[in-house]
Amino acid sequence: MAWRFALVIDPAASDDPRTDFSGTFTPIDVAAPALSVGEMSTQRGDGIFESIGVVDRHAQEVGPHLDRLAHSAALCDLPVPHREQWRQAVEVAAEHCPPHGEAVIKLILSRGVEHGPTPTAWVTAAEAPDNTRVRERGIRVVTLDRGYGLDTPAKAPWLLLGAKTLSYAVNMAAIREARRRGADDAIFVTSDGFVLEAPTASLILRVDGRFVTPAPNGGILHGTTQLSLFAHLAEHGHEVAYETVPVSAMAQADAAWLVSSVRLAVPITAIDAVEVPVDAELTASFNQYLLSPRD
Ligand code: PLP
Repeated sequence: MAWRFALVIDPAASDDPRTDFSGTFTPIDVAAPALSVGEMSTQRGDGIFESIGVVDRHAQEVGPHLDRLAHSAALCDLPVPHREQWRQAVEVAAEHCPPHGEAVIKLILSRGVEHGPTPTAWVTAAEAPDNTRVRERGIRVVTLDRGYGLDTPAKAPWLLLGAKTLSYAVNMAAIREARRRGADDAIFVTSDGFVLEAPTASLILRVDGRFVTPAPNGGILHGTTQLSLFAHLAEHGHEVAYETVPVSAMAQADAAWLVSSVRLAVPITAIDAVEVPVDAELTASFNQYLLSPRD
């Protein structure tokens, strides 16, 4: 049977000197109502989140996820999350995961109740979907215009393009559009012809033996999975690069993946109905690495 765990955090100020934050966590009944009607997360999607993969009760890459939570908070003018408090909350959530198998821990920091004094914060843990098949078989993707140019993030930082905000309605709409077009997922591109990211994953291309990903300054989320995989590849002598990737470069790739914390590395089998070769062996080694304990 599906299991779930949730706890509410009473957010500490970032300079709170306590070392034990267990008293600031309240486990809640996952089946019972928990949020106030005035919550800005539900009313406006005004908040940020992180999804952390868990393997055999080990939460993966907690440090990079907490770094990104802090980065998103700064972009959204939310109070600085107390790193140690959030780390301990992840630890408690991980302890509630089953000893074997994959799970997902979500961290949510919301603006809170309208005109309220503090943000609302909570952490959930749940069983991860079974991604075994998609990791082996791969996915077909279509490119979708995100409706802005490569220079938009610099010109309009209030669009919060590099923050992991709770406003994912557009990302979900893109996946539905991809399905309407007969694909499984989407790759966002700029209206001036550059590649960005998928609605819930980063893109990695292999071109002439080099591993390339779109540079995060183009208004995309810097993926923790991509970061981890690049470090792993570099350690094994491969060349990795952040680049401004024109849409035409995708046709030169002899392998391509979407990577993210829970689905991990899935090979792309076609982009806009043009077949892409799949390196099954390398994909399997990516996922073997991604499923190993990572800090
Ligand atoms: N890009 C977007 C828009 C995402 O939502 C995600 C993850 O959900 C990613 C990239 C991949 O990030 P990570 O590897 O940290 O899961």
